[in-house]
Amino acid sequence: MEQDNEEEVKTFKDLGICEQLVEACDSLGWKNPSKIQAEAIPHALEGKDLIGLAQTGSGKTGAFALPILQALLEAPQAFFACVLSPTRELAIQIAEQFEALGSGIGIKCAVLVGGVDMVQQAINLAKRPHIVVGTPGRLVDHLSNTKGFSLRTLKYLVLDEADRLLNEDFQKSIDEILDEIPRERRTYLFSATMTKKVRKLQRACLRNPVKIEAASKYSTVDTLKQEYCFIPAKYKECYLVYILTEMSGSTSMVFTRTCDATRLLSLILRNLGLRAIPISGQMTQAKRLGALNKFKAGECNVLICTDVASRGLDIPSVDMVINYDIPSNSKDYIHRVGRTARAGRSGVAISLVNQYELEWYIQIEKLIGKKLPQFSAQEEEVLMLFDRVAEAKRISIMKIKESGGKKRRRGGGDDDDNDDNDVEKYLRLKSGKNGKMSKKFNKKRV
Ligand code: AMP
Repeated sequence: MEQDNEEEVKTFKDLGICEQLVEACDSLGWKNPSKIQAEAIPHALEGKDLIGLAQTGSGKTGAFALPILQALLEAPQAFFACVLSPTRELAIQIAEQFEALGSGIGIKCAVLVGGVDMVQQAINLAKRPHIVVGTPGRLVDHLSNTKGFSLRTLKYLVLDEADRLLNEDFQKSIDEILDEIPRERRTYLFSATMTKKVRKLQRACLRNPVKIEAASKYSTVDTLKQEYCFIPAKYKECYLVYILTEMSGSTSMVFTRTCDATRLLSLILRNLGLRAIPISGQMTQAKRLGALNKFKAGECNVLICTDVASRGLDIPSVDMVINYDIPSNSKDYIHRVGRTARAGRSGVAISLVNQYELEWYIQIEKLIGKKLPQFSAQEEEVLMLFDRVAEAKRISIMKIKESGGKKRRRGGGDDDDNDDNDVEKYLRLKSGKNGKMSKKFNKKRV
């Protein structure tokens, strides 16, 4: 479905978008449609089902939001469309785009995600919003428990990051949702990677869908410089600190495999004077949003994250992605590095590969179809960091143990705000004793 670029650049009006929505695009600074928008919108306006293969940052939210809003303008009703997303942050972002595009036409949106009070969400549902955006689990919760809420009149269903939504984790909820909504509807699937399961769903729910590929399969963009660095596991943190210090003016996202690792690493980095902040599925929703906002505002320039942040989050201008842990699912690599080199900008992705991760790394090279060059690090300089990093790690582990104990005594909670202060306090009190490092980290997946 690739389109030739011989024609003039299209406008939203050329695609058939109505005046009110063209104005809305204009007010958001969207001058021309992005590639996925130019290709998807005309089919959507013809009433077709869609499968859109598009990377994060391609403008895919607009590609499905604009036709839905246009159809809604033609036949206004409550609970018109439901958009599902695998992560809470992405759901919130999608709702924000709907609200921004629909602000001039009085669009009401409800966001149904976990980690937030259900009662407030039920109150929002009672206001009969036009668009419901949510994560599958919470939507099912409301469908079962919120009086008077149903999606029996739904006209549009969108699965964003569809391949992830079709994973086993979500299978039960998605099936329950599909059972609750009319078969007579439009369905859009959007995803940066396409799995066999998407094809399965295509057979189950879509009607003669038009397939649009705004990105060639599993490719990474040309402006992205990708490198790997083969290192012994015990020096991983040193290499990370070395790279972040070398690139100290940049904004970076560092991907780890586990939630625990995000917290430990960010404590280590903060202890060493770097402005790092963790985000993971283990944090409360408020903390996750807070971390994201601090990163977006530039208060912190290193975001340490699990794959919860590899998809969909709209974080502008990340200069560097570091794969601190190599993903065991190579498609996650595509999503992670898609956080940099967006919208024509350049970016760097560095993968730290240790002796245990080689197999996964080889799979990644197979998927992207090229051998990557090696990142050149001054090994002596890296190793000079070893003692400082080991000490920072020891302090951070101690801090985590302590706060775990405190939290248990207090009965839970998620309060990392004072990490820096506590580490500083500990440094002041420290009397030079050598604590032993705990090996009980890094075991939980997102
Ligand atoms: P998405 O891929 O939907 O997450 O969009 C990524 C970013 O691109 C968001 O900040 C959108 O506001 C922005 N965007 C979407 N469509 C356009 C467009 N046609 N022109 C300029 N920016 C856009």
